[in-house]
Amino acid sequence: MRLVSTSGHAAPVSFGEALFRGLAPDGGLFMPERLSPLSAGEIDGLRGAGAIRCGLAVARHLLGDELEDEVLESAVREALGFPLPLVPLGPRMHVLELFHGPTLAFKDVGARFMGCLMSRLQRSGPPLTVMVATSGDTGGAVAHAFLGLPRTRVVVLFPEGQVSERQQRQFTTLGDQVLAVAVAGAFDDCQRLVKAMFRDPDARKALALTSANSINIGRLLPQIFYYFHAWARLNRHEPLVFSVPSGNFGNLAAGLMARELGLPAAALVTATNANDVVPEYLRTGFYEPRASVRTLSSAMDVGAPSNLARILALFDGDLARLRGCLSGSAWSDADTKKAMRRVFDEHGYILDPHTAVGWLALEQALAGRPDAHGVVLATAHPAKFEDIVEEAIGSSVPVPEGLAAGATKPSRFRRIPPSLGELKHVVMGWAGA
Ligand SMILES: *Cc1c(COP(=O)(O)O)cnc(C)c1O
Repeated sequence: MRLVSTSGHAAPVSFGEALFRGLAPDGGLFMPERLSPLSAGEIDGLRGAGAIRCGLAVARHLLGDELEDEVLESAVREALGFPLPLVPLGPRMHVLELFHGPTLAFKDVGARFMGCLMSRLQRSGPPLTVMVATSGDTGGAVAHAFLGLPRTRVVVLFPEGQVSERQQRQFTTLGDQVLAVAVAGAFDDCQRLVKAMFRDPDARKALALTSANSINIGRLLPQIFYYFHAWARLNRHEPLVFSVPSGNFGNLAAGLMARELGLPAAALVTATNANDVVPEYLRTGFYEPRASVRTLSSAMDVGAPSNLARILALFDGDLARLRGCLSGSAWSDADTKKAMRRVFDEHGYILDPHTAVGWLALEQALAGRPDAHGVVLATAHPAKFEDIVEEAIGSSVPVPEGLAAGATKPSRFRRIPPSLGELKHVVMGWAGA
């Protein structure tokens, strides 16, 4: 597979190069130059298959020309190395639980695939230093993904006082391989510092720097696997609709790519909170990015989603064709709370606020398609947002063991003002560079 930039001004590169570069040199995002579908026989052969077999089929189809099978297999097993249950709730609705990884959010799948491949494909030289800015969930997922991998270390920058205690513990309690840096500023300052570090000649010379933000194609491709897994596990012949709680639109881009690869999905629905620039674009044809607003489903508070560029590239900017398989809807915080309450009362099932938004969009979509079945991607465990959920459902949320265990480990991080000089000093000192 060769990858090209969504901005269209960079020469095609191999997957390995795109993985370590993160962003294309012209500032665009890497996308496969072409996506040819799996054969109908291959796809039909996946009916009833488990997640790993589906993941391997897709991974070999996409990357088999470049990566050895043994490398691919270890990355797929790493990415999908926890249960991915498909829970039926009512006759036509299903919840695909993607939150049984170490940080209890779907981002574990992409981060672990990327981590495994980066560690396997790194060249000789200094150990790999992975830098990531986080507003909450990404830091934990990336730090956990690299934990224990040889010759790698992780630096997580976060805005001091602006991530939840539980999120912060997921990347400040992991020991020497992970350096957590609290920046006196906002998430945007963290992101700016990471970018400045990449441009800094001293830092580049001393550290093999790479980025693990969600625009990395290595995090996106493995998200295709679980769409195939859900379809194969469901193993039905009725039309299938996927609902995707969306923020930066990586998960949705992966779903649309799965469809290009031949996944028999009748349609996808993008579900957003009040940050609804994409549903609005689908409705009106006008795309107007704007500053994000804060909502209960905070991981989806994105006003200018990066991965929309990938979606438009996939459809050559043809809105009519995109509308043929994608619809969207947006939901308020009040809707979200009511949905959590109603699903708990009717099914005894606890949705997190992000998945609740997806649930609402799926209900609406299925109401217009009496023949179809639906799957909502459950992107986070409800215990990650226990205060919001408990208030909404009026009952306590059981906390999984891993999350509870993290609460007792010592938390360590460094504090800096939002300055490149300070960041360099702390990182180079820590890395012994
Ligand atoms: C990151 C995240 C999302 C949004 O996913 P995108 O791929 O950025 O659209 C949704 N829910 C949760 C819980 C997340 O952490």
